Amino acid sequence: MAFEGLSERLNKVFSSLRGKGKLSEDDIRTVMREVRMALLEADVNFDVVKSFIKQVRERALGAEVMESLTPSQQVVKIVDDELTKLMGTEAVPLNKAPHIPTIIMMVGLQGAGKTTTAGKLAKHLMENDKARPLFIAGDVYRPAAIEQLKTIGEQLDVPVYDEGTDQDPVEIVKSGLAQAHEKKNDYVIIDTAGRLEIDEKLMDELKRIKELAQPNEILFVADSMTGQVAAKVAAGFDEQLDITGVVLTKLDGDTRGGAALSIRSVTGKPIKFIGQGEKLDQLDVFHPDRMANRILG
Ligand code: GDP
Repeated sequence: MAFEGLSERLNKVFSSLRGKGKLSEDDIRTVMREVRMALLEADVNFDVVKSFIKQVRERALGAEVMESLTPSQQVVKIVDDELTKLMGTEAVPLNKAPHIPTIIMMVGLQGAGKTTTAGKLAKHLMENDKARPLFIAGDVYRPAAIEQLKTIGEQLDVPVYDEGTDQDPVEIVKSGLAQAHEKKNDYVIIDTAGRLEIDEKLMDELKRIKELAQPNEILFVADSMTGQVAAKVAAGFDEQLDITGVVLTKLDGDTRGGAALSIRSVTGKPIKFIGQGEKLDQLDVFHPDRMANRILG
């Protein structure tokens, strides 16, 4: 289960406070040490943990007294608030173009879930926005990726623009966009190639696609199972491409929390969706407060 270890540890810390009438500075110091350990063990980025702890400690020691809450409930509330803040506070909607089509470019490392998420997103837009999307198959290095997108297209009854694996992806995107204009598709979702790690050639290609397509959204798809590495990779993509949002995938697995809790702080970019399974309907809008509640169990 996602966040299991983190939830357990945090709850243990909080339960040790239960029944205490008033928290001493010593109590708070002990609690913060435990929370810090729990976050580091969940693979949250070190700097993120440091500033989080500082923030919580200041609030816990501060004059902020809520008559209706016991001291331990207060600490839980402060941690809850600060976890929510760490993940962005509010849900952030997808950007929409003033004129159709809205262009969404999916980027990320190989295996993160780009193609699957492209499908999920199309389904989400069709259901919530009566969208008529078009997919563009821009991953020309893996024939399997094109086939996968076509299969998803068939399942959803969404057209896929592809030119196989021989053409320059920038040219494919150009022709795909022309088709979208002609057929009046209101959304275009561009699937792009990934690699096992960031490399210059891939980044150059993605930059050229961005330049040509001028996407309204560049969504970095992050595998939450990779922990804080996901945040580091996201920052690398952001530096080169100025991403507009993040989709965190595989939150149905036993992810520890490092990606969810680090990525917003490290990149400054909002998490917009979460993937919670392999099926096309397993995508949800990301709500930081709900995620914080889930972590706190
Ligand atoms: P890409 O290389 O980035 O296009 O990644 P794919 O879309 O091919 O996904 C890689 C693997 O992760 C596939 O087996 C997907 O079914 C799986 N996957 C993607 N998103 C999720 C998710 O949210 N949960 C789970 N459990 N698996 C996912």
